[in-house]
Amino acid sequence: MHEASLVEALIEVIETEAANAGMVRVTGLKLRVGAMRMVVPEMMQTAFEIMSKGSVAEGARMQIEEVPLLAHCTNCNRDVEVDGHVFLCTLCGTALSEILSGQELDLMEITGDPGESS
Ligand SMILES: [Zn+2]
Repeated sequence: MHEASLVEALIEVIETEAANAGMVRVTGLKLRVGAMRMVVPEMMQTAFEIMSKGSVAEGARMQIEEVPLLAHCTNCNRDVEVDGHVFLCTLCGTALSEILSGQELDLMEITGDPGESS
């Protein structure tokens, strides 16, 4: 399961962030995941539930925001959404080399207890 290795890395980040914020327990987190990551949100959730057991993030609620894969076409001078990992402009067929978004795997926010009320 591909998601498992992502979740493993994610939990490490959460533990560091939680420690920095002085949280003893993480109750919620927000993720931004790019389309290029090929993540199935449900599988990510399941992997997280299993793997967070015993960690500071056990039982935390995970929200996943999916980021579409966008690239810039230098020929049309516009941004196009890439579908099916074919990196060609849907309008003119030019190869797209400038990826704008879709590679994210960012922890946007964690909430916890006792959290800083930011
Ligand atoms: Zn184009």
